[in-house]
Amino acid sequence: MKPLFLKYDNFIECRLCPHLCRIACGKRGICGVRKNTGDKIELLTYGVISGHSLDPVEKKPLYHFFPGHHILSIGSYGCNMRCDFCQNFHISQRSADSFSPDTDPEKLTIEALNATDNIGLAFTYNEPIIWFEFIVDTAIKIKESGMQTVMVSNGFVNRNPLKELLEFIDAFNIDLKAFNDSFYAKLTGAKLQPVKETLKQISKAGKHLEVTTLIIPGRNDSEKEMDMEAKWISEELGNETPLHLSRYFPMYKRDDPVTPESTLTRLYDTASKYLKYVYVGNTSEGTGQDTYCSKCGIIVTKRTGYNTRILNIDREGKCTKCGNTVYRNFIFSSRAKN
Ligand code: SF4
Repeated sequence: MKPLFLKYDNFIECRLCPHLCRIACGKRGICGVRKNTGDKIELLTYGVISGHSLDPVEKKPLYHFFPGHHILSIGSYGCNMRCDFCQNFHISQRSADSFSPDTDPEKLTIEALNATDNIGLAFTYNEPIIWFEFIVDTAIKIKESGMQTVMVSNGFVNRNPLKELLEFIDAFNIDLKAFNDSFYAKLTGAKLQPVKETLKQISKAGKHLEVTTLIIPGRNDSEKEMDMEAKWISEELGNETPLHLSRYFPMYKRDDPVTPESTLTRLYDTASKYLKYVYVGNTSEGTGQDTYCSKCGIIVTKRTGYNTRILNIDREGKCTKCGNTVYRNFIFSSRAKN
């Protein structure tokens, strides 16, 4: 495998993400948490936690990965994007002179094992790729203890570090922030193409994958763009890839209006022409909350907010009416109604 860091006379190149920061001695990369200390790139946030919670797995969002259960979720600080609409800007855009570690991989693994109704550990809240060394060390321990690992990412990741992560991460939710280059260039400081490559690499590796697009009025809410996005997902990742259309609320530097429900419904209809499982998120009622069997159409999961009720699904995640496999990652609960 190619090295993740390349040392030159006057700088070290970080190859974790497509920015390929060339970092001079004493300086940090764009993400703000990786520093050239003279002979190496040091991760300043190893073991540093900004958020920590036992969340419903639906909150990641993952609707087809052990639905109805919880996952211990952690995040740190910094990001390799500069989205001016960031919904987590207080942690993603924070830069500090120094950070102090709060935990380590062993402690987190014990905590995950002891948490109630917990399937494993999710790296979320801020961008995980910039936390690479900590994620690898922790994910290995979580997998050794028989639990699941999840990564919620913007997908702006290079091929080699992702290849390494694919050995230890079971499920991904990747933000596909828009399906046009100018959105990425103007609003995120990144590029679309590497995100598409990340999605294809995860899909080819056979890992569980769900995709999220935050719909911002006037920025990425045209039917034409959603038509192209959903068609691409269907052709490149498969038509069973769940797509979450998330409602935007004004945040950080943007004050565009809240996404109207009519826009979400319109785009839901457009995406549903190509994809079997389309959902509407950041809203607890209306179109796109529940899951229906893609073969016979019977309801298989009813959702109200993060409250999940599994219906008409057998112990193997199959529809009890027609036998279609709806959930490949599933733990049967006696609360399920068949
Ligand atoms: S992970 Fe951080 S330091 Fe490395 S290339 Fe990306 S932004 Fe730059």
